[in-house]
Amino acid sequence: MTCALCGTRATSEAEALSWTTSVERGRTLHHCVTCSREHLRAIEGKFDSDWW
Ligand SMILES: [Zn+2]
Repeated sequence: MTCALCGTRATSEAEALSWTTSVERGRTLHHCVTCSREHLRAIEGKFDSDWW
């Protein structure tokens, strides 16, 4: 499992469980904990996901 944003890889299943999974336009994306936080901030800022 690789982070869609920073390319970090989850090294264990436990780590992967803390990641965020989202589906955008039929594609499943995984985000590490750090990027999930950034992602949430972006959503709260009402950015369209196209910007990244
Ligand atoms: Zn990441």
